[in-house]
Amino acid sequence: MATDLSPSTETAPVRSSNRFDDWADRVLSGGELTRDEARQILESDDDEILRLVDAASRIRKKHFGKTVQLYFLMNAKSGLCPEDCHYCSQSKISDAEIPKYNILKRDKLMDAARIAAEQGAKTYCLVISARGPNEREMKAVEEIVPVIKEQYGLDICACLGLLSREQADRLKACGVDRVNHNLNTGEEYYGKICTTHTYADRVETLRHVKNAGMEMCSGGIIGMGETIDDVISMAFDLKDLGVQSIPLNFLNAIDGTPLQGNDDLSPQDCLRALAMFRFVNPDRELRIAGGRELHLRSLQSLGLYIANSVFVGDYLTTKGQAPEEDYQLIRDLGFDVTTKVGE
Ligand code: SF4
Repeated sequence: MATDLSPSTETAPVRSSNRFDDWADRVLSGGELTRDEARQILESDDDEILRLVDAASRIRKKHFGKTVQLYFLMNAKSGLCPEDCHYCSQSKISDAEIPKYNILKRDKLMDAARIAAEQGAKTYCLVISARGPNEREMKAVEEIVPVIKEQYGLDICACLGLLSREQADRLKACGVDRVNHNLNTGEEYYGKICTTHTYADRVETLRHVKNAGMEMCSGGIIGMGETIDDVISMAFDLKDLGVQSIPLNFLNAIDGTPLQGNDDLSPQDCLRALAMFRFVNPDRELRIAGGRELHLRSLQSLGLYIANSVFVGDYLTTKGQAPEEDYQLIRDLGFDVTTKVGE
């Protein structure tokens, strides 16, 4: 006979209060985290990590329940980029050994869409390496997006670099749901990781996306030598911009890039960053993006108690873990993959 482990009374378990719980209570009732509290989260001790994850998970649960959204990345054009983003293996200043090709033909992009649908992805992220799309690339995107949407019912997120308002309007008109354009780091630190365009350029593109009526996906990369204040500044700027989706990457310092050798993030550092973004942007999609396997390692499951989304499959120029491992992780947590917006 099975043992009944249910509580013997109807009374809710007593929660011993700590500062993270107090802040979560405030955020859950519509209040905001202060910058000083954000700093305290990023400076908190490893011994407090379970309390922090628990508090952040309450916010995640309120807005996303047990759902996990899967995103599928397709690098439609690789390498050959004239920009000098120091973290990027596709930049002209990178010596990393990566595949280099111009925008892929329609059949390859459709094959990838089929795989995305088969893997349960909600969103197909069409990415090109570029300062911004040229006319040929714009036309290729305008041609393929309606076909993918009709055939597979996937949401489309386009990541094409800097956009003019006219280009944003064209993307909206062809059916793009969302544009990804990361802030990457705090405004003050931006000039240290890129000199060929500015933080303000990136913000301007996001404004064009918003004004064109598409959703904004924008996040950043942790572990590039930035300060805690840079990370906090990015989290609050994303909040102020009203982005709907925040991918948080943990630097995978690829050999041949200027940031090679920067690999001092611990799994706890990643969890603290995720938790801070969750507290600051409580109801926004928060995605554990590149570097998940490398830096969170065996604590990936704790990350999903805070974030509600991951990429499935490979990243732009690096391998991700097998999709089966992600499904296993999600099942083990008792979470469900959601394939529809608002599901
Ligand atoms: S613009 Fe994009 S593809 Fe080009 S170097 Fe920067 S991050 Fe890489």
